[in-house]
Amino acid sequence: MFIVCPSCLAKNRVPEEKMSQQPSCGRCQHALLPQALIELNEANFSNFIQNSDLPILIDLWAAWCGPCKMMAPYFAECARQNPQVIFAKIDTEANPRLNQAFHIRSIPTLVLMNKSTEIARISGVLRSAELQQWLNQQLSSQWS
Ligand SMILES: [Zn+2]
Repeated sequence: MFIVCPSCLAKNRVPEEKMSQQPSCGRCQHALLPQALIELNEANFSNFIQNSDLPILIDLWAAWCGPCKMMAPYFAECARQNPQVIFAKIDTEANPRLNQAFHIRSIPTLVLMNKSTEIARISGVLRSAELQQWLNQQLSSQWS
């Protein structure tokens, strides 16, 4: 499958059986499945989502949003527990065109994408267990 390097955006082909072996980027050696969250923005968004074969869960947030801050550690924890999903964040203030493209009315909003297709979304604060449960439901209905 194809995974886009979160560091240099190079498209890497990773055989299915190598997915569990912490694959790294052929160009820059950065980990392709990093533990850290990926920052998506207007410059890298299309390239990233179109070239990645893994589902991508995006947290649309803003610095002034209290509930967003409350959810951030839950989102990060969930990211560590789900290496088969890319966890990304979009700062809606810094990226108004993405905010508009997603028709975001309230934040935090989570959007699950498979390439350019939106699979599901949910708004409001979710704690780790709720977030995991919601994600499991979406993944089992879409990717099983
Ligand atoms: Zn790279």
